[in-house]
Amino acid sequence: MHFFQYHNGRLFCEETDIAAIAQRVGTPFYLYSQRTLLRHCEHIHRAFGTLEHLTCYSVKANSNLALLHILAQEGIGADVVSGGELFRALKAGFPSEKIVYSGVGKTELEIEYALREEILLFNVESVPELETIDRIAGQMGQVAPVALRINPDIDPHTHPYIATGLQENKFGIPYSQARESFKIASEMKNLKVIGTDAHIGSQITTLEPFLESAERLAELVQTLGNEHIDIKYIDIGGGLGIRYEDETPPEPSEWAGAIAPVLAKTGCKIIFEPGRSLVGNAGILVTQVLYVKQTPRKLFVIVDAGMNDLIRPSLYGSHHQIKPVIESDSAKVQVDVVGPICESADFLATERLMPLANPGELLAVMSAGAYGFSMSSNYNSRPRCPEILVNASRFRVIRERETYQDLVRGESIEGDWISV
Ligand SMILES: *Cc1c(COP(=O)(O)O)cnc(C)c1O
Repeated sequence: MHFFQYHNGRLFCEETDIAAIAQRVGTPFYLYSQRTLLRHCEHIHRAFGTLEHLTCYSVKANSNLALLHILAQEGIGADVVSGGELFRALKAGFPSEKIVYSGVGKTELEIEYALREEILLFNVESVPELETIDRIAGQMGQVAPVALRINPDIDPHTHPYIATGLQENKFGIPYSQARESFKIASEMKNLKVIGTDAHIGSQITTLEPFLESAERLAELVQTLGNEHIDIKYIDIGGGLGIRYEDETPPEPSEWAGAIAPVLAKTGCKIIFEPGRSLVGNAGILVTQVLYVKQTPRKLFVIVDAGMNDLIRPSLYGSHHQIKPVIESDSAKVQVDVVGPICESADFLATERLMPLANPGELLAVMSAGAYGFSMSSNYNSRPRCPEILVNASRFRVIRERETYQDLVRGESIEGDWISV
């Protein structure tokens, strides 16, 4: 996180004083560092060296248009999982030939939209989905490019909610049914089978699961080759972890160094779909302390950001470092940092030893760039917070704070009753 550093006791994002931004935009807000984002892009570009590859950023990690636009300009493609994400990706400037579409539940309308936009390929997750895409492509007089997502049954050793490549998960086609499914797909008139893919989970901090997954895919591609099904793309998914606390995830170069040789043997073009590793440590959530409340059992620091703004601690028990925006010499105490939402799961940290923060003080919730704003909601009718982008010594609002009017948009007290 070397673009979030203290200078004279004040936390800066690049060369911009975070407390000064808070004064201008109010709290809470998400804050992103453009340089961090660009540095992560560069690491990933460099990691694969000369090997033919396409990076498709997983839009769900953070789908702000301004960030997407930066990534598109860096030559990166997009991995989308809904029509809405496809819309965003196109609007942000990703060329359609660099967009892949994943997800277990694509609707007919979404499939039609993606076909009309001529995306690079669909990552297909079941035979019934193949049938649907084949039928729609036929109706549109098109041939749909597809890759089959395989569930390789590999334990990624991560939180169960973000493990996706185990037998009990809903994702992908079971490895044991892969050959048969490829055969079925290759016989469909309106499909062109060009790839295979796997995505085994998120926040993976060791190389082995990636390596195993790559080996399974490479093996499959070889088998299929013998059956005259020629695979051009291997999509290895995303999932590379980041440091939240004391994890030591592989660097992109180590990660690519391990899997690239396995995949290179196949002669396929490699696609990978990083989300968290690109944006996670490029963003923080800035919040202000409202109250400090001592109860017989606990000391609560009540802040103005809640689980509607950042749900990861509540949903996954995730750890985010919390730092004072202006360093204090208060003694460290054990606190729960909680939000204003009416749920006991509304916490940003529990039993955390940190300098006691007083009302009015600002806290930075670190590593919040991925699955932060994109998972935020209006629960408790809280307007969603603004998103701010810093470049060197300046900042820009890339999403405005929502208003109360935004909260009720589309709702009506007096709509017409409709008979069916
Ligand atoms: C979520 C997701 C990703 C990105 O995962 P990260 O852990 O953020 O890198 C990539 N591919 C697919 C299919 C996904 O669902």
